[in-house]
Amino acid sequence: MAEGPLVHHYANRLRKVLKGKEARVEFGIKGLKQFEPSLEGLRVQEVEAYGKQFRIHFPEDRVLLVHLMMWGSWRIYRNGEDWDKPRERARLILRTPTHDVVAFSTPIVRLLTKSELQEDPRWGNLGPDPLRPDFSIKQFFHLLEEQRTREIGDVLLDQRVVSGIGNILRVEILFQSRIHPRRLVGSLSEHERNEILRWVLKLTRTWMKNMRKKASWISIYRKSGKPCPHCGALVEFFRQVGRITYACPKCQGVSTTS
Ligand SMILES: [Zn+2]
Repeated sequence: MAEGPLVHHYANRLRKVLKGKEARVEFGIKGLKQFEPSLEGLRVQEVEAYGKQFRIHFPEDRVLLVHLMMWGSWRIYRNGEDWDKPRERARLILRTPTHDVVAFSTPIVRLLTKSELQEDPRWGNLGPDPLRPDFSIKQFFHLLEEQRTREIGDVLLDQRVVSGIGNILRVEILFQSRIHPRRLVGSLSEHERNEILRWVLKLTRTWMKNMRKKASWISIYRKSGKPCPHCGALVEFFRQVGRITYACPKCQGVSTTS
């Protein structure tokens, strides 16, 4: 699953080859092919990352929304270069005079207007994205406060509260904040909420900066049974809303609700 930092990293690469370019759009998804002529001759205005979504903006108020989910990936090829993935897995192709930009195997490609996207119950209504310049601390704390009766480990994955956080980031944010994933949001002190915000901002940026290096910022994700790098206690794992999560029983304390 592509988490926010990876999505922003790829959006930056896509922007370099697409922005301002005339792109011929081809869809590999049934039901979208009919819209190809309506995009003919249009230039890409902007490529934007928002949480885990890619938003490719065209004139005439059109937005292509792409979500890679678990299996999707982007490739950028120079014109004429051989593709390293099968043509039939291409769900979206943007052909510019110099490059072919291809989204493979992604189940989610939508063509919407901005207001349709904004009002869409599944894809609109995103919480603030810590990697965007419009991230609002006030809005983050406000949306968090509305989730008082839910567990923080669950809430951090809710894209309507904060967007771009996936399983790796939520595990590491809570470990660094020394907060157990099963703690209810309503039980968190002001200091603890500030710690969560601090590590949301810090770890998303650390991941962005170290995209090509070994992820040395990962402390306990997928390290169940191994010693905690901070105190030496054995890292535990458990299921939370269908996802495996990890915690140090000593640094993060025991849950009061489990
Ligand atoms: Zn520990």
